[in-house]
Amino acid sequence: MLGALITGRVSVGLAGVSACKSALTIAIKYGLKRRQFAPKDGAPETILMDYPSHQQRLLPRLAKTYAYHFALQDLAKEMVNTPRDGDFRKVETKAAGLKSLATWHTTDTIQECREACGGKGYLDENRLSNLKADTDIFTTFEGDNTVLMQLVAKGVLTEFRKSFGENNFFAVMKYLQERLSKKLIEINPSYANNTSVSHLLDPRFHAHAFRYREEKLTLSVSTRMRKYLGQRIDPNDAYMRCQLHMLELGAAYSERLALTSFQSAIETVEDKNVKSALEKVCQLYALTIIQQEKGFFLENEYLGVSKTKAIRRMIAKLNQELRPMAGTLVDSFGIPEELLGANIILYN
Ligand SMILES: Cc1cc2nc3c(=O)[nH]c(=O)nc-3n(C[C@H](O)[C@H](O)[C@H](O)COP(=O)(O)OP(=O)(O)OC[C@H]3O[C@@H](n4cnc5c(N)ncnc54)[C@H](O)[C@@H]3O)c2cc1C
Repeated sequence: MLGALITGRVSVGLAGVSACKSALTIAIKYGLKRRQFAPKDGAPETILMDYPSHQQRLLPRLAKTYAYHFALQDLAKEMVNTPRDGDFRKVETKAAGLKSLATWHTTDTIQECREACGGKGYLDENRLSNLKADTDIFTTFEGDNTVLMQLVAKGVLTEFRKSFGENNFFAVMKYLQERLSKKLIEINPSYANNTSVSHLLDPRFHAHAFRYREEKLTLSVSTRMRKYLGQRIDPNDAYMRCQLHMLELGAAYSERLALTSFQSAIETVEDKNVKSALEKVCQLYALTIIQQEKGFFLENEYLGVSKTKAIRRMIAKLNQELRPMAGTLVDSFGIPEELLGANIILYN
């Protein structure tokens, strides 16, 4: 039963990422040739992709698409290679998380791509409306995303307990507390406010931030559940009190999976130019998620205000640096123009 569920979820996640690739290819290619508004009379009109707003709308979404591509490719391999009587539950947790992240991302990305093409994006002949209609249901079938994210959080908590080979809840808590205090030693005020370029772009900072969020949420959900159960609150009521917390943990775990896969994929690339382009895309992905979750990082004093501002500026800088490569980054998806099926790409 698990085999059928997991295959379906991995396939839907991959199909969502494929739809994002098509939508982004259409929107970015259109943005590279469509001009709108001149800075002054007689001057050529500005190419859409040269507007920082257009870059911000499309390039971080392109970076997330790359991340979910690598994560789902890794998961598909793991699914095939894991014996059904082995660690298949772990694969189920990953599939639920990545299916949800990827398909929420699909819905958001296709809508943004549609708007980024203006009125042309709404024309049936430019495919975006079809992509939108086809993929809308992905967030619901093969498991509703909100329900699946709770399954992810439960899976993460169960795995932590199992990794100790016993049902000793206190051992798990102690272990997590120790790991977090080690991290907290590193997160002193100078770390939380380190705005140097090399630090902000350092993959070790990104991995550290993603792990910190996942572990901190694992510990805080476990502590709350334990407290409620200790007060003899009905387990279902205790769960309801922690439900929003669980959803955040599910998302944190799944984003960390995506970052790990992306960073590992880059390590295997030999071509220097390809590697350097992918590193930039990965930096943009990681900083976009950190920026998106800055409420968490600020509340936990993991990031200071000067650093969150520096991250916002760095995202805009990475957008600008990736702008000249935007066409190549979507060409690398290898979708032939005739299969994109969008007239705005084929003709002027
Ligand atoms: C086109 C299509 C094809 C399908 N194909 C198949 C198929 O081949 N085989 C099959 O078995 N099923 C299939 N389904 C069913 C699909 O898996 C379910 O629709 C899906 O799991 C959601 O369940 P539901 O429709 O009962 O929604 P509900 O469970 O009623 O959910 C409605 C809303 O309530 C929220 N919600 C529900 N429970 C919770 C909770 N515990 N916590 C928080 N929020 C919650 C959900 O997030 C959702 O927003 C298909 C559905 C569609 C639309």
